[in-house]
Amino acid sequence: MSALAAQHKAANLGQGFPDEDGPQEMLDIAARMVHEPGATMNQYGPGRGLPELRRAIAADRARRHGHELDPETEIAVTVGATEALAASILGLVEEGSEVVALEPTYDAYPAAVGLAGATLVPVRLQRVQADQDNSAGHTSFALDREAFAAALSPRTSAILLNTPHNPTGTVLSREDLEFIADCIRGTQIVVITDEVYEHLVFEGTHVPFATLTGMRERTVTISSAAKSFNVTGWKIGWAMAPAELLDAVVAAKQFLSYVGATPFQPAVAWALDNAHDWSVQWRDTLERRRTELAEALRDMGMEVFEAPGTYFLISDIAPMFPGESAVDFCTRLPKDAGVAAIPVSVFLADGGPEATDSSCSSWNTLVRWTFCKNDETMATAIDRLRSFTRAAQLR
Ligand code: PMP
Repeated sequence: MSALAAQHKAANLGQGFPDEDGPQEMLDIAARMVHEPGATMNQYGPGRGLPELRRAIAADRARRHGHELDPETEIAVTVGATEALAASILGLVEEGSEVVALEPTYDAYPAAVGLAGATLVPVRLQRVQADQDNSAGHTSFALDREAFAAALSPRTSAILLNTPHNPTGTVLSREDLEFIADCIRGTQIVVITDEVYEHLVFEGTHVPFATLTGMRERTVTISSAAKSFNVTGWKIGWAMAPAELLDAVVAAKQFLSYVGATPFQPAVAWALDNAHDWSVQWRDTLERRRTELAEALRDMGMEVFEAPGTYFLISDIAPMFPGESAVDFCTRLPKDAGVAAIPVSVFLADGGPEATDSSCSSWNTLVRWTFCKNDETMATAIDRLRSFTRAAQLR
């Protein structure tokens, strides 16, 4: 979709990377580190990451979430959250076992589970209609507790959680997380939680799974600088877990990349220690853009789901474009409207236009839009979509 967007000079609301920089001081530190006398910053760093970054990660988790970690033994810096995920799955998931994951599923999960020789068992989020238990009055997604419990079996070795969730923007509630915790008490199941959007929550609260009673000892928590500080190109992520679990993650990590880029690490440490105000401002900006995009798409006649977190929201094109799949819609959108977006069916294990089920009759008409682009790009995209949908209505 990004290639199509470039070809047609489309406003790219497809791929989720921001087109604005993070905190200036953070960028300056990274640049200074490259020119540091003695050039140590341009060589391999310690296997688990620079101590100052691990200290800053521990301090940040303790301050914001009360999640206490030993920076020496319980934190490892990785090449983005992507490597932390792959290393956790390769290090902790037994060949032939099953890994339960929420669906729609971020595409790195099935790939890593496949590499580990395990099977991904998807649990599809449920569509909650506006008139059911939804105070904000719009359709939303929620954990399907019954389906989740049914997906667990003696073969389950791990659960992959992602909250705030890509691609739906869902933030799992404390009650849902407690439900999951109750399901696995007394088992050996490991939980790998992907929290890369932890700073980007607009409604509700981000609850780290590791902070629930009894869950710390079995949880690997993954986060990243990418979405927190607008540096998706730096690929600085981290895994946090009790020493025994983390040792297994690091054993896999050291043969994937050995270490990540050194000069970015002091810069990210600075941001974790000092960029709180920037983070709050960025979250507020995203919240405004999310609301503007959601309202615009609703005005155009699409059904728009609640998106309490992340960079993304989902709309159903069915009311506007009956009979058209999201794959076809998103394929013609860059050329016909000058805007790019992503069909949600690419995040489903069974993919494709046949992807339907009883809780959401039309997964194949759902489209993911990002709202992390600058105000000008967002305004251009909305204007173009307005003209495009108006023309479609007149036809
Ligand atoms: N997990 C999720 C849910 C994501 O959306 C992304 C980025 N799109 C990642 C992990 C990867 O993060 P990183 O760039 O730090 O590897």
